[in-house]
Amino acid sequence: MAPIVILDAGHGGVDPGGGNSAQFTEKQMTLNITLYQYRRFQEMQIPVAVTRSSDVTLPSEDRAALVRGSGARYCISNHINAGGGRGSEVIYSIYGTAAFPRLIAEELEAEGVPNRRIFTRTLPNNPRQDYYYMNRETGSVETVIVEYGFADNPLDADKLSKDWQSLAEAVVRAFCEYANLTYQPPKTAPTPTTTPPASGGGSGTQNPGGGNGNPNNGGGSDVPDWKQEAIDWMFDEGLLTNEDWRHQADNPLPLWAEAVILRRLYEKLKS
Ligand SMILES: [Zn+2]
Repeated sequence: MAPIVILDAGHGGVDPGGGNSAQFTEKQMTLNITLYQYRRFQEMQIPVAVTRSSDVTLPSEDRAALVRGSGARYCISNHINAGGGRGSEVIYSIYGTAAFPRLIAEELEAEGVPNRRIFTRTLPNNPRQDYYYMNRETGSVETVIVEYGFADNPLDADKLSKDWQSLAEAVVRAFCEYANLTYQPPKTAPTPTTTPPASGGGSGTQNPGGGNGNPNNGGGSDVPDWKQEAIDWMFDEGLLTNEDWRHQADNPLPLWAEAVILRRLYEKLKS
């Protein structure tokens, strides 16, 4: 089935992007956001594709060709800004409308990121062509470029590094509203900072949100201590923060979560 939406993680591989802070690189943050959104659209059974799913170099012509050939109606290109500003920016094509960008700005605002501007830009020598290739070279696919915040602004950078999942989710909400698709909230809390309070007691605690169709075999007493100790260690070290995972010893983590854990470990070792 052709995707309705194709997600584009800006930059990648040899191109780190310009939106880099001490906490993250743009290519890594855009990939986090993109893979999170990809998983969310899949969860809602909304056909979705991505231009890249790992840290690969993707030349602009190839990237635009992937979008054009995807069969998708919409493209969301994820980026992190830099250059001395604060808040989100959403860029759309001169042949498009500001309706979707406005919804994105509103939803990001609801998560605490003010909108700086929504705009179009044309080539200096040709007012009939978009300046950005993702707007210009993506054919009939309605493409918006989302700049989630400024890496060189401490408030934005902090928000992104701590709460990028909420910002990714905000754009998922905006998309569902714009494309008239039923939005379903995530099954697990989108942010590590808003985890449900641990209900104590350990074994037998059930995740009320349920898993992704995992057999709910009741009670945690069948999890051997050595497994649970290893999981608890991950939480103690801050490598895992979402409490939902604490009692799912035998369930696989999605790739993005593994990536987050590895990145946290890497940053810990580096510092
Ligand atoms: Zn960028």
